[in-house]
Amino acid sequence: MPFLCVFCETERCYLSYLCEGCREQKHLKLLYGDRYNEIVKNVLLRSNDKQEYKIKAEIKKDIEHKKKEVETGDETYINKVCTRGDKKK
Ligand SMILES: [Zn+2]
Repeated sequence: MPFLCVFCETERCYLSYLCEGCREQKHLKLLYGDRYNEIVKNVLLRSNDKQEYKIKAEIKKDIEHKKKEVETGDETYINKVCTRGDKKK
């Protein structure tokens, strides 16, 4: 017997607690961790016109971090920055 996805509560599920779309989001969250939460909060909690600006800012931030990784050879640079950012809150 089908039941509703435990996350979105709209899609029907037969063999899993999560629908296909929500399962994909779960995998993204597992992959990106705190960065996923940060982007969802920073981008989605804005009006539509300001979302595009924020998306560009988030992409720019990722590019800057990647450049720093390449320059310094420190592959943990992004994690250090994200951890530091969390402590400010
Ligand atoms: Zn769902």
